[in-house]
Amino acid sequence: MPYTTFNSSCYKCGVNLNESNWSNYYRLNADLPEELRHRCKECERQRRLKRYIDNREIILQKAKEWRITNAESYQKSLHQHIPYLRKYYNDKKREVLSHYSPNMICVVCGESNLNVLTIDHINGGGGKHLKSIGGNIYYWLRRNNYPSGYQVLCMNCNWLRRESIKVQSTRSKWRRQITLGVINHYTNGSIRCNNCGISNLKALTIDHINGNGLRHRIEHNIGGHIAEWLRQNNYPEGYQVLCMNCQFIKRKTNNETGGRKCHM
Ligand SMILES: [Zn+2]
Ligand SMILES: [Zn+2]
Ligand SMILES: [Zn+2]
Repeated sequence: MPYTTFNSSCYKCGVNLNESNWSNYYRLNADLPEELRHRCKECERQRRLKRYIDNREIILQKAKEWRITNAESYQKSLHQHIPYLRKYYNDKKREVLSHYSPNMICVVCGESNLNVLTIDHINGGGGKHLKSIGGNIYYWLRRNNYPSGYQVLCMNCNWLRRESIKVQSTRSKWRRQITLGVINHYTNGSIRCNNCGISNLKALTIDHINGNGLRHRIEHNIGGHIAEWLRQNNYPEGYQVLCMNCQFIKRKTNNETGGRKCHM
């Protein structure tokens, strides 16, 4: 039995190995040299993460090719796994949110709908950070013993906070002006979320009523600025104004994917 005994330490970081922190893959793999079998889970995770980041393009391309050649079995297993993945993800999300906000509410407005609650990087730099961890923020926070510098916000408050610290360029002011005109049109001048009625302009977005917003954008080559396109095309039907939170809730309940596959 290729089972390395206990009472040893990780050959990389030196931590004492036990049942809970020892990487099983290495411990049980008889083909590997004895030394390599002494690796802790964290070092193994780091190794895999590094390998993933270094070879990201190739790995993603291979996975894509596999999904295309095995389309049927891929779809089948995906559908079987979605409920479990979703439950696992939501459980972990709840765990992390309750750590940073014991009542699991947005710390600014008190919103409690799990679907719109997110983790906010208090000192900014969220995008960069998410890229560097190569994965999910909830799993990362949990693994790293809940570091400080994070808080729970709803999508609206998260967005408003980001907008308030962002320096407005002339271009973004011009865009905002156009967006205001378009929102004004689709709300008949009331400038409110069509669902909850929130009237903070900065939290309002334009929603494609039937979903598939992203696909529509790609087909019509709209790019990032839907408002300008709507104005140039004489305000077509099929759009409404929602706040970030309501748009998120709508997407979740209708299983809208915005054109992409939604796994959670
Ligand atoms: Zn280690
Ligand atoms: Zn909020
Ligand atoms: Zn709303």
